[in-house]
Amino acid sequence: MSSRKSLSITWMFIFYSLTLFYCSEPSFPPTVDSPLNLSGSTMGTYFKVTVASLPPSIHEDELKVSIENLLGKINAQMSTYISESELSRFNQYEKTDWFPVSSETALVVNEALKIHYLTEEAFDITVGPLVNLWGFGPPGRKGEVPNQEKVNFTLTKVGSRHLQSRLTPPSLKKNIVDLYLDLSGIAKGFGVDEVAEILEKHNIENYLVEIGGEMRVKGERGDGSEWLIAIEKPVTTERAVQKVVSIGTNAVATSGDYRNYYEEDGVRYSHLIDPTTGKPISHNLVSVTVIHPSSMTSDGLATAFNVMGWEQAIAVAEQEQLAVFLIRRTEDGFEEYASPEFDKLVTVHN
Ligand code: ADP
Ligand code: MG
Repeated sequence: MSSRKSLSITWMFIFYSLTLFYCSEPSFPPTVDSPLNLSGSTMGTYFKVTVASLPPSIHEDELKVSIENLLGKINAQMSTYISESELSRFNQYEKTDWFPVSSETALVVNEALKIHYLTEEAFDITVGPLVNLWGFGPPGRKGEVPNQEKVNFTLTKVGSRHLQSRLTPPSLKKNIVDLYLDLSGIAKGFGVDEVAEILEKHNIENYLVEIGGEMRVKGERGDGSEWLIAIEKPVTTERAVQKVVSIGTNAVATSGDYRNYYEEDGVRYSHLIDPTTGKPISHNLVSVTVIHPSSMTSDGLATAFNVMGWEQAIAVAEQEQLAVFLIRRTEDGFEEYASPEFDKLVTVHN
């Protein structure tokens, strides 16, 4: 058996995502057809773009600069970590009239509101004050777990029913001045879609775009083989694979609280907040994967389904015919659920 063959059997995994990662069979030595990789940091995480080949009309450096400029622009629009960002200025705005924003911010907020109503209010970008209270926002952790009184008080500032968005002219409106939006649950996916748009503009047909675990793929890897995505096992002790799938031309997002959490007095606090209780989620659903043509939508939906929990997530996935894969913790291991749409869309490789 050739070494090439044995390598392809002993999958080599490239670990560069939090909950999902792209895996490939490496080619040794690298050939001229090796995919081109561009990477960097954005939105408090990393981005990675892999294209099978570049058309002669664009140079690698030029493409990288345009991607970085685009991601910089999105950060300046939607980051709560930048106090001058468009979103931060809206959060600080103390009036309840329409506040003009870029068409991009209005689009993302609009989609967030759609997902809010589709997911029975589990996804709620107005949870920002609670995210901050629980120590997962820009101010960081204060050291102590907030008491019920603080949670109740903060809940009075939360609720998408206090928020309106419109696309023409692009603007946002809050009905209570304390409303504070947090787009962290959906903006990475939007960034992925926008980067994919740049690639499409340059007639690049075969690509994988990723920001911090939110991915979108099109075409093939350059050697005719499909992009393979590994869904991680939801454990904190090791990085292992639950499932390897190909997803056609689609985006995929995985939401799991086994990477982003803290523990205090033996209790694990997730970075996902249930907007009805005002507290971090605590249930046995530990990993949610959503496949959808739009990365923005899959990102928001994965977070939403994770907040909903096993039963409600299954009910909404089936009712809305969405491609969803869930893993929950049981007494003796893990249990999986794949929605009918997921089974239709996905090819499983392990
Ligand atoms: P995950 O992939 O684990 O779902 P994301 O990065 O997509 O993680 O989104 C998590 C972030 O979304 C949190 O860090 C927080 O800022 C924000 N968030 C937390 N709870 C909610 C919620 N119920 N609805 C919308 N956004 C939320
Ligand atoms: Mg998300």
